[in-house]
Amino acid sequence: MGPMSIREMAEAIGGAESDLSRHIRLHGLEPTGHRTANNGALCRMFDKAAWVRLCDSLPDCPMKFKLRAFLGQHEGQAWDEPLPAHHPTISGPKAHDGHPNGMALLEAWARKQQEEEKTEKTRATIDIPGNRPVVIAILGDLHIGNNEADYLSMWRDVKAITGNANVYVLTDGDKFDNWIGKFADLQRGQACPFVEELAIAEAIVDALSDRLLAVVSGNHEYRTQRAAGVDLVRDWLRHKGIRCLYDPDELGFDVRLGGASWRFKLRHKWAGTSIYNQTHAIERDARFGDPSWDVGIGGHLHGQTVVRPFAHGGRIKYAVQLGSYHRKSRYGTQLGLPALTPLAGQASPGAAVLILHPDGQIETSPSIEIAARRVNA
Ligand SMILES: [Zn+2]
Repeated sequence: MGPMSIREMAEAIGGAESDLSRHIRLHGLEPTGHRTANNGALCRMFDKAAWVRLCDSLPDCPMKFKLRAFLGQHEGQAWDEPLPAHHPTISGPKAHDGHPNGMALLEAWARKQQEEEKTEKTRATIDIPGNRPVVIAILGDLHIGNNEADYLSMWRDVKAITGNANVYVLTDGDKFDNWIGKFADLQRGQACPFVEELAIAEAIVDALSDRLLAVVSGNHEYRTQRAAGVDLVRDWLRHKGIRCLYDPDELGFDVRLGGASWRFKLRHKWAGTSIYNQTHAIERDARFGDPSWDVGIGGHLHGQTVVRPFAHGGRIKYAVQLGSYHRKSRYGTQLGLPALTPLAGQASPGAAVLILHPDGQIETSPSIEIAARRVNA
């Protein structure tokens, strides 16, 4: 350690002295009172090794930030100032030990955002092999754990998916009730223990693992994120190595089959509501928000599934508003929604069933089983 001139700082990292001086001048980084008359040397007790270390750890960081980090460190804390002769010599852990390197952190966060931007720019696509129609079963608002959850429909629908070829799945959030955090008191009223709720939810994810194309979360899954900072669904998919699309909030992706391609938009809750038109929020988005999609899918409303074709921008688009997997819903009763019981062989009112044809046609079906029989005939 010793006084280091600008020239020495530049040499230490193999840079040009003039560049360094310019940066120091330009960004007002001169440590006042520490500049001598002879060739502008920085006459503080700069630690050459620390400077080299900082430059090595931030290879792509702009010089002005490196300098700020370096000078700031020494200016602000003066840990390397020579001590007056009468001061006791103290060795061992000090307050500045382990202090985070702000500049390295800034760089790490910046890189993370850069990576995220890269992924956002990549257009998500799902290429379905073959040239024959396929079934897309869309499951919304399962609410596993809820006293009124429709386990019978859930079980039938999962069996209909796994028991038939060419059936793929999208899920649209609120897979389980997840009464945790400030809602934990509600768990006391649930007949199904929380550990069973999660076990059933995870088993369904397992069972559908090779059929899942895309998954988003809903407000009930968000609770784990809010209470514990953990995205449980992301962790399940990651640990199980399930290669479907995932986002906690929204996914936009192209589904391609044969010569056809449809743009899907999948999210749990869409902005806006109308008591006269269940698909209002989704259709509103096509007209006043995002005109790019062909199939818009939403959940959250706990009514009955409605698939409504509508014309927009010279194309037929499909607004898919899912209902929920409830046998009778007290929440629905409170909202004044009609009670619904699926007929035998019919999918739950929480599911929508689409048949995609390689010529671009989309059909709807009341039943996963019936749709699967049609495409596999
Ligand atoms: Zn819900």
